[in-house]
Amino acid sequence: MLRFQYAARTHPGLVRDNNEDSGFAGPYLQLVADGVGGAAAGEVASATAAYVTSAATMGSSDPDLLEVLARAVAKVHEQLRAGVAAEPGRAGMGTTLTAIVTDGEQAAMAHLGDSRAYRLREGELSQLTRDQTLVQMLVDEGEITREQARRHPQRNVVLQALDGDAVPAPDLQLLDLRPGDRLLVCSDGLSDMVEDDRVAESLAEPDLEAAAEALVQAALAAGGRDNVTALVADVEDGPLISRDGAPLGALRDPDLVLDPAAVRSSQAEHETVLD
Ligand code: CA
Repeated sequence: MLRFQYAARTHPGLVRDNNEDSGFAGPYLQLVADGVGGAAAGEVASATAAYVTSAATMGSSDPDLLEVLARAVAKVHEQLRAGVAAEPGRAGMGTTLTAIVTDGEQAAMAHLGDSRAYRLREGELSQLTRDQTLVQMLVDEGEITREQARRHPQRNVVLQALDGDAVPAPDLQLLDLRPGDRLLVCSDGLSDMVEDDRVAESLAEPDLEAAAEALVQAALAAGGRDNVTALVADVEDGPLISRDGAPLGALRDPDLVLDPAAVRSSQAEHETVLD
C-alpha cells in the first residue's frame, strides 16, 4: 500500500505579519492552500479549503479519487460563497489548492492557482503542477522564457483561484507515484524565491525534516517576501495506518474554518464514513 512519510514546515516569512498559508500533511494526503484577501479573509479561505479537502478525502472510501477531489473542491467553493454572503467584508477572498491524495493503490492530484508540487525520482526533479498564472500562459505561448517569467512584473497574477465567485475548474489528474519517489508540495513563497536547482538540492537531503527545514531556510535567505510552506513526503510501501495528520499555518486556528459541520453532513450523503 502506498503511503507518505513526511515532514512539513510553514513560516510567515520576513515581511508579512500573518500566515495566510494553510497545509495538511498526513500519511495519505499532502496539501497546501495559499490564501489571498484582506481583513483576515485569506486565512479563512485557505483554512477552509484545507479543512474541507482533508476531511473529504480522509472520510472517503470512494475508489474514484478524481471524483472525491472534484467534490471537495466544489464543497470549498460553496463554503466560500456562503462565507462571503454572510460577511461581505470577505469579498474577494480566495485560495490556491494543491492536494495530492493516495488511497494506497492510486494517487491523484487537484490543483488550482500557483502553489506547486514536484516529484524527485532518481535525482531528477519534475514539476507535477502547471501554474495557473499569466506568466505561465505567456511561457506556453512562447512570448517569454521561463527565466523572464521569474522576474516578470506581473508574475503574481493568478488566472484561477478557489473562491466564492467563479465555479472552479481544477486540474485533476492521476499521478504516477511509486515507492522511492519524494514529493514536495509548496506555496509560491518557496518557488518564487528559490530556483529549481536549489530546490532539487535541498529536497535531496536524505533526512525528511532536514530537507523541509533547508527549503524554508532557502526561501528566508532569499528574502522571505511571502509566507512559505513546504511539505516533503517520501512515497513508501507499507500497511494501512491511521488516517491522521498535522494541520499547518492558518488551519491550526479552527475558528478560521467557515463551516466544519457542513463537511460531515455532506459526507454522509455521498459515502460511508470510515471509523
Ligand atoms: Ca503566497
